[in-house]
Amino acid sequence: MKILVVGLQKNARIMSATFELITAARQITDDITTVVLAGDASAVAEPLASRGGGQVVAVSNPALEFFNDEIYAKTLRELIEKYQPQLVLGSANSYGKALFARLAALVGGPMTSDATGIELDGDKLIMTRPSYGGSVIARETAEKSDKPYFVTIRPKIFTEASEGAGEITAESVSDACFEGDTVVKDVKSDSGGTKNLAEADIVVSAGRGIRGEEHVGLIKDLADSLGAAFGTSRAVVDAGWVEYATQVGQTGRTVNPKLYIAVGISGAIQHLVGMRSSQQIVAINKDKDAPIFNVANYGIVGDLFEIVPALAKKFKAELN
Ligand SMILES: Cc1cc2nc3c(=O)[nH]c(=O)nc-3n(C[C@H](O)[C@H](O)[C@H](O)COP(=O)(O)OP(=O)(O)OC[C@H]3O[C@@H](n4cnc5c(N)ncnc54)[C@H](O)[C@@H]3O)c2cc1C
Repeated sequence: MKILVVGLQKNARIMSATFELITAARQITDDITTVVLAGDASAVAEPLASRGGGQVVAVSNPALEFFNDEIYAKTLRELIEKYQPQLVLGSANSYGKALFARLAALVGGPMTSDATGIELDGDKLIMTRPSYGGSVIARETAEKSDKPYFVTIRPKIFTEASEGAGEITAESVSDACFEGDTVVKDVKSDSGGTKNLAEADIVVSAGRGIRGEEHVGLIKDLADSLGAAFGTSRAVVDAGWVEYATQVGQTGRTVNPKLYIAVGISGAIQHLVGMRSSQQIVAINKDKDAPIFNVANYGIVGDLFEIVPALAKKFKAELN
């Protein structure tokens, strides 16, 4: 099986999710090609070559400096035609979700999105993915096809590849790939400088229990004490206390950190679908019957206004 890994860069640095994809690909085959698209891709590609990316294909053009799903998809279609992979892997982060839906449609190949497992059984490719908000784990089998199969993999499921062989090849595509209806001129972060939610190892999230915008800082302080990303429930976004980029759940981000701390969040199903696959969940809530405790590994029943400052103080003293 020949696999094409779609590596993504942001600010000319390879996103960590790309190294997770390399690990996923290498458990199936050593025949992998990793693509990176950038303004100057050869410089950006270096870590891929030293961390197991195999044949690293670097395409450089000013139009590729910022993520643009339209232009990226056209470029990748041409590379897929040339390299003829049977499987194309991408991350199920917000970039990969936008890109792969478009790319699979352009190429006309079947797709599984948000897989949490992928394996080869004989010549059959089998993906596992959570369905119905994580209540069911579906197994999807790829049928033999003359088109490549597209899979996006949920971040933080696979460990990052740290070493391995690779060789960079500078590749070019036709100029038509760089023409699109959308031109991305600049990218500005709207997350208030907080860590990237989808890629964070620790997420601390605030719910309506914080009572008001003036207490957002309390939870951010706890997040900072742990080097964590800051998230919220939708109630906090709808109230206008924080920006939408922080929302975790069905209509927000899906996160999969090693540790998720839910503060003053009741645990509505729409919130749980975005965080229940976290490795360890800690809930802080004054209501011992709050549904969040059904998914929590550890629970603290009590007033968050007493507990959160005490935890932040302890973490700052112990960890910093
Ligand atoms: C189509 C649809 C999509 C949705 N998408 C999302 C989504 O993506 N993400 C999402 O989060 N929600 C989503 N929702 C909303 C969801 O149903 C809930 O309304 C929301 O998650 C509730 O947020 P919350 O837990 O912060 O607030 P609440 O349900 O009001 O819970 C607040 C919690 O804080 C606790 N609390 C209060 N004071 C304290 C204190 N002093 N100390 C400790 N604990 C305290 C309370 O006991 C309570 O459990 C969606 C809803 C719909 C219909």
